[in-house]
Amino acid sequence: MIQKTICVHPSVHALDARLREGMAKLTPVSFVSCADIAECRDGEAVISLSGDDEVIRKLPAGNLRCFHLAGAVSREDTGLGGNSIEFAQSERLDKRLRGRALVHQPIPGYSGLRIEPGDEILARCGGNPVWVARPRPASSLDVVSVPLPKLATGDILFDYFHRSRFFQVLPLLHFLREVTAGTGWDYPPLRACLMLDDPNLHWPSYGFLRYEKLLNEAKSRGFHVAFATVPLDAWVSHPAAVRLFRRHPEQFSLLAHGNDHSKHELSRSRTEKDYLRLAAQSLRRIDRLEKNTGLHVSRVMAPPHGACTDESLAALLAAGFEGVCAATNLLRKGNHRLHHACFGLKLAEIAAGSAPVIPRFKLDSSCEDAIVISAFLNKPIIPVGHHHTAVDGLDLLSHTAEVVNSLGDVKWQSPEKILRSNFRTFRENTTLWIEPYSCRIQLIVPSGITHVGLYVSENNGDCYSDFTFLVRHGSQSRNGQKVSSVPQPVMPGDHLEFVSVDLGKVNYREVAHPQFSLSARALPRRLFCELRDRFMPLIPRDMIPKAWTSG
Ligand SMILES: [Zn+2]
Repeated sequence: MIQKTICVHPSVHALDARLREGMAKLTPVSFVSCADIAECRDGEAVISLSGDDEVIRKLPAGNLRCFHLAGAVSREDTGLGGNSIEFAQSERLDKRLRGRALVHQPIPGYSGLRIEPGDEILARCGGNPVWVARPRPASSLDVVSVPLPKLATGDILFDYFHRSRFFQVLPLLHFLREVTAGTGWDYPPLRACLMLDDPNLHWPSYGFLRYEKLLNEAKSRGFHVAFATVPLDAWVSHPAAVRLFRRHPEQFSLLAHGNDHSKHELSRSRTEKDYLRLAAQSLRRIDRLEKNTGLHVSRVMAPPHGACTDESLAALLAAGFEGVCAATNLLRKGNHRLHHACFGLKLAEIAAGSAPVIPRFKLDSSCEDAIVISAFLNKPIIPVGHHHTAVDGLDLLSHTAEVVNSLGDVKWQSPEKILRSNFRTFRENTTLWIEPYSCRIQLIVPSGITHVGLYVSENNGDCYSDFTFLVRHGSQSRNGQKVSSVPQPVMPGDHLEFVSVDLGKVNYREVAHPQFSLSARALPRRLFCELRDRFMPLIPRDMIPKAWTSG
């Protein structure tokens, strides 16, 4: 991989160390100090952070790209900030940003930019230009007036790059991507599903959701709904509900939502052994559901209330779950070992060697910022709601899908398919390097490729697990060899599968039941919750307790 050297004026120390580290992991760059901007050469890229607007006039002519932070005007007045960033409909901007107005927290200590003739405004905040492209002979200059963050102790880059807080970092990442275009990693296409927690197959409806109506909406608006269903509910299923799922796998899929759906089920203090028993029981119940209905359930876990711990992740992987879908902020709270320079900014977080956690976020009327930031970072787009998300009909779900579809070509698919395509690739001559963000990935070898290698990075403090490698070519298959660091010979059109050796290393069918089987208490509790949800549409809207619709 070609790493581009980025000159930082007046020195690299003007760029926060963790910001530097994060950017160098997200793009193929390294940073060097540049005391005199006049000495930069043709073809180089410069970040100018002195705040001296005169310094950019010293830039030599020629093909030299520069990101300039305009002179800071100290102001306490955050009112100027407004509460959104408005991106222009400009060809200079990443397609995913063009023309959007995204909710943003007020940004203290910034001023609007003074516009010069020829400037193209790329973004405004509260009506003030904050990012412009300034033309230069043979090149252009990005000028930004919002200061880059200085990370306080305990802060990580993710604190400055998530829904409603992204603009202090986004223009710099945009610039670094632009100057390294075509030399770094290729990402998977945009992938999405809408996720709904709790519904089951006991009836062709659940609370405010009418499955057939939702299916028709999904078909006509082009989206996929993944139902996170509680394995404890697998004891019965309604044929009409099953039929809808069986006939329409493009629109509907199922995944696991805990085991009993007890409180803090995957985030309380338990040993890995206890979690293994829980995960194994969850899988056995899923097996039963599949056997009784002929449906497939993604081996993906959506933890109840979104939270899970390191121990639960290791156990889920060992039992055979291919991944977890959880809120990034809750994952951060419960997993201190995962805090690396770009935690929350990559395709997935990898725990316990190879257990991937893909992010999800709350589906609400203002989730456009979360959708766009996920897309900008190439992460899966998974807004999550409940049956009461449809309290006013399906408009909110349809509108959310429409926002996702406005990003361009989006693959709507089940969480299992999202996880199996969760890797990035880099082409080196005829070798394709693959960096997995999942424990089971599948791909078809593209033309012109003769070898495939697994690229293992230090994604976090843990060591990566070994992977085995399966090749299918026509009816033949080359089986199960361990992947070494040496690229393997392949043929274009081969179907490849890489599987972590830690996935399903325990036979869940032989694992004992949870030591203190919760089911005796859990079943009545779950039945109460289900009845409550199912009768909720009969209760006058203003009499529904808030607690019932907050989880
Ligand atoms: Zn739930």
